[in-house]
Amino acid sequence: MTSSFLPRPLFLGAALLVTSMTPACVHHSCSPSGAVKSAAIAGNNDPRRATPDAALAAMKVGNARFLNADSKHHSDALQRVEATAKSQYPFASVIGCADSRTPPEVIFDAGIGEIFVCRVAGVASSVNDEASLEYGSAVLGVPAIVVLGHTGCGAMKAAIANKPLPGSLPHLVAQIRPAVKRAERIQPHADGSALLDAATREQVYGEILRLESSPVLGKLLHEGKLKIVGAIYHVGTGRVTWL
Ligand SMILES: [Zn+2]
Repeated sequence: MTSSFLPRPLFLGAALLVTSMTPACVHHSCSPSGAVKSAAIAGNNDPRRATPDAALAAMKVGNARFLNADSKHHSDALQRVEATAKSQYPFASVIGCADSRTPPEVIFDAGIGEIFVCRVAGVASSVNDEASLEYGSAVLGVPAIVVLGHTGCGAMKAAIANKPLPGSLPHLVAQIRPAVKRAERIQPHADGSALLDAATREQVYGEILRLESSPVLGKLLHEGKLKIVGAIYHVGTGRVTWL
């Protein structure tokens, strides 16, 4: 992040300041090698940042590139390091699971500086994740937040099994249990993978509601400057389906 968290008035003031700044360096001719690349590294005027729908469309296109083995950002990482050294203008935020099979930058084919990411097992977010996403949208101007569950989630399986666990795991599972109970209520005959899928969707929906209750994000939602959407990543296919 570019600054520490601030009291609310300063926090919102910082949002105005940061969103009015111009990127320090987005020119490819500034690269250490002197090479000029044709691929654009966009800043605050990135059209994907213009509206929530533009950002979500870019996420969908990115997953399509990934699925088609047409990912484009892996060769310009060092250029992106330089272009984003003094400022960042991500076009979307993702809160997803810590599962090693679900890296948002890879599955949405995004480069350094393009996606603002929080990850925690089972997408069982804490207030710090919520604060991070508030920073992403209120200060950095991110117009879309994707809450990304996934198939085969171990944390969700543990919450369904609901057995004694060591360490801090019971705390995590307790936070996911309400989603499991909602899924069991909505689909009383579901078990196995059907219950796992339903509970995962409920976990995503619950996280969306939690984020929508944030005064900072709620204001942006009300103003039409932000959308919060749910999605499920399929670990067996690489495909993202949108809820
Ligand atoms: Zn998971």
